[in-house]
Amino acid sequence: MGTMIQLQQVGKTFDGNHVLNNVNLTIQEGDFMTFLGPSGCGKTTTLRIIAGLEQPNAGIVTISGNIVDNAALHQHTAPGDRGLSLVFQSYALWPHMTVYENIAFGLSIKKLGKPDIKHKVEESLEKMRIRELKDRYPSELSGGQQQRVAIARAIVTEPTILLLDEPLSNLDAKLRIEMRAELKRLHRDLKTTIIYVTHDQVEALTLSTKIAVFFKGQLVQVDTPRGLYRNPATLEVADFIGNPSINFVPASIAKAGELWQIQSELGLLHLPLQDKPYGDEVVLALKPEDLHLSEVPIPGGIPCQIYSVFPAGSETLIQLQHGEVTLMAKTIGEADFETDSTVWVTFPSEKVNVYNRKSGSLIP
Ligand code: ATP
Repeated sequence: MGTMIQLQQVGKTFDGNHVLNNVNLTIQEGDFMTFLGPSGCGKTTTLRIIAGLEQPNAGIVTISGNIVDNAALHQHTAPGDRGLSLVFQSYALWPHMTVYENIAFGLSIKKLGKPDIKHKVEESLEKMRIRELKDRYPSELSGGQQQRVAIARAIVTEPTILLLDEPLSNLDAKLRIEMRAELKRLHRDLKTTIIYVTHDQVEALTLSTKIAVFFKGQLVQVDTPRGLYRNPATLEVADFIGNPSINFVPASIAKAGELWQIQSELGLLHLPLQDKPYGDEVVLALKPEDLHLSEVPIPGGIPCQIYSVFPAGSETLIQLQHGEVTLMAKTIGEADFETDSTVWVTFPSEKVNVYNRKSGSLIP
């Protein structure tokens, strides 16, 4: 698989404000790359730069081996000449064309025969569950229906690169899950390189082959969904990933050894660490689903009071208190814990991530 898109030291300012700083990113052919991060972090701006709709103030953008932006040389290739297909959240459909005509338009430009066009359009109407809307005009559609038409219009030409900015944001929960499945299949079947913008971590984790996490105009981590979930690179990313939020416990490294001794507000812990952060002030990150609760004392178990229990059907959230520390635990299924009773909490030491408290970075 070759390199499809490359951003080198890309920067962007709006009215003197730096909204993207030194972004370096490589997207491989066939990647489903998602830009993830909180509102205003620069995801859409990065996508618009790749699309050619914004010009970077610094850096170089390369698509399929061709330089499409070189800020230093004021070199800029127009969006239409980049070989991309776009679906933006607010990407307008042609108002004077029916749904069918909107979707067929790109194919007629490619000079496909009528039967071919009909077959392909019907197929994408089917995929997006909008067959019954084919004779309507965009003004007669809901926001979610318009989004699905926009996706159908983008995928029907089988583009090599597809850019999607929050394409499912106007859909209800059930339809969103169905459309996710269609996008995943589409990616698998067509091997299209997809760049997808969302602030929804579940969407990012379920769809992508790679995730690029942005915070305040910086690209902070590029990883597989599993890598990102297991080992968030910074405290900021760890706080953003996971639902409910990850538990943070202040601690300090007490003693080196095969297992490091860590003095924490949960007591003395023994953890495997490769690096040598001896003496450092650290923060332990514990995922709610990694905490195991026992109603009887067990060796190494940390005694905690049950503060609150939140049954949520398929899972139960349990809020725990140990001294000053509050922990959230998550168990699958129903759980009969009584508020104010004591439980003993254990967790696998290899699942605990340790972060340097000052720099916020993960200690391997
Ligand atoms: P969201 O999820 O809310 O869409 P985002 O991560 O996509 O957020 P961007 O749209 O890339 O964020 O915006 C990044 C920053 O740049 C924001 O602070 C935004 O206000 C600013 N910005 C974006 N476009 C412009 C513009 N045309 N003029 C001025 N500022 C802009």
